[in-house]
Amino acid sequence: MDTLGGDMASAAWQAITSRLDDAAELIGLDPGIHRILQNCERVLEVSVPVRMDDGRVEVFIGWRIHHDTTRGPGKGGIRFHPTVDVDEVRALAAGMTYKTAVLDLPFGGAKGGVRCDPTALSLGELERLTRRYAYEIMPLLGTDRDVPAPDINTDGRVMAWLMDTIAMTTGRHQAGIVTGKPLSIGGTRAHSGATSQGVVVCVRAAFSAIGLPIVGRRAVIQGFGKVGGPLAFLLSSAGMRVVAVSDVGGAVINEGGLDPGELADHVHNTGSVAGFAGGDSVDPDAMYALPCEVFIPAALGGVITPEVAEKLGARIMVEAANGPTTLAAEPVLDSRGILVVPDILANAGGVTASYFEWAQNRQGMAWDDELVADRLRACMEGAFTAVWTKAETLGVSVRRASFALAVERVAAAIEARGLFP
Ligand code: NAD
Repeated sequence: MDTLGGDMASAAWQAITSRLDDAAELIGLDPGIHRILQNCERVLEVSVPVRMDDGRVEVFIGWRIHHDTTRGPGKGGIRFHPTVDVDEVRALAAGMTYKTAVLDLPFGGAKGGVRCDPTALSLGELERLTRRYAYEIMPLLGTDRDVPAPDINTDGRVMAWLMDTIAMTTGRHQAGIVTGKPLSIGGTRAHSGATSQGVVVCVRAAFSAIGLPIVGRRAVIQGFGKVGGPLAFLLSSAGMRVVAVSDVGGAVINEGGLDPGELADHVHNTGSVAGFAGGDSVDPDAMYALPCEVFIPAALGGVITPEVAEKLGARIMVEAANGPTTLAAEPVLDSRGILVVPDILANAGGVTASYFEWAQNRQGMAWDDELVADRLRACMEGAFTAVWTKAETLGVSVRRASFALAVERVAAAIEARGLFP
């Protein structure tokens, strides 16, 4: 899990702010717009009373935050986690402003969270918590105002409860008020797997940008969950050798390439990649130094510290996880010539699929698998090219260029609309 508590959460806000400051300097941002983006538009804190199964009333704290909605309705997930706090949600909301801008999606940045341990809740408690939280944040929500999606520990079922709560309390069916819904109530085809598909587009584009063919090349993946699992399949299908995979339980290695289908079966049966017979077990920390062409963090935030960056064995890193690299590690990666495709670009396939879902809901028309896949690929390829061109123009890393491009787009929207009143 990449959720952060206390000081680490403040660190997340500082990190996103320092990336904004860097972009501001690179593009000569207007100081007034810079000040606007250093703050969140609105922060709603709610208390969420829930009748527990034993009759007690427990009160949970939650937030829904808009960082900037100049380019469109707020877009961003809702996470349920015991350590989530307001600074973490603020930082994640700002991250969504920039992620949607890099992809040029007509959205602003938002995020939500409830401090709770969902693993300790019964299904009924989880539903009551979701419905009451949805009710409390309703003043901020709307198809044209703020459109939540799943995040850590939330899924299509939680989104369905959220949509239903709004429909029941307003008397209006609004499918586009939330994305990541089940197909049966207006979800999009190809939503699950979209983040991994987007990562693969970035892997291909990064290899091609440095003139490296991907067939036969080695990939190391940290995390085998909703993103890392499909990724192992997709990279193997693209002809790469996935030589090592880790998860919370351990790590496995096979120089000839792990079989992703057999590995997925093993994880399904045992809960972890550890002990997989199709590879040798390896210390998860040893994964970083393994020689490979691409390393893909797809689990935790803050794992690429300066020490890890110093020993990273990859030529390219594509950040599937949110915030895997610490600020201090960035110059180390740059000085070692490691090409980094940053999270706001690399893992944007999920929010792009959410955009497609929202667009289909507004059209009242469902797209088929092929259309969703084609448009996803086109959006990701377009964003990669725009960022790569920006990096070349400015002579900076792909990460700095991503933020520069994003901030430039947000600033153009703020300038065009002018300051109210
Ligand atoms: P998930 O909970 O499905 O999977 C997380 C994986 O990380 C699991 O395999 C878990 O075992 C592993 N893990 C946990 N601790 C680990 C450790 N110490 N070492 C190695 N592996 C460890 O989560 P997910 O949805 O796959 O998300 C992974 C990352 O991608 C997160 O940072 C998330 O924010 C980011 N992300 C996900 C999506 C999405 O569509 N799911 C979209 C954008 C970004």
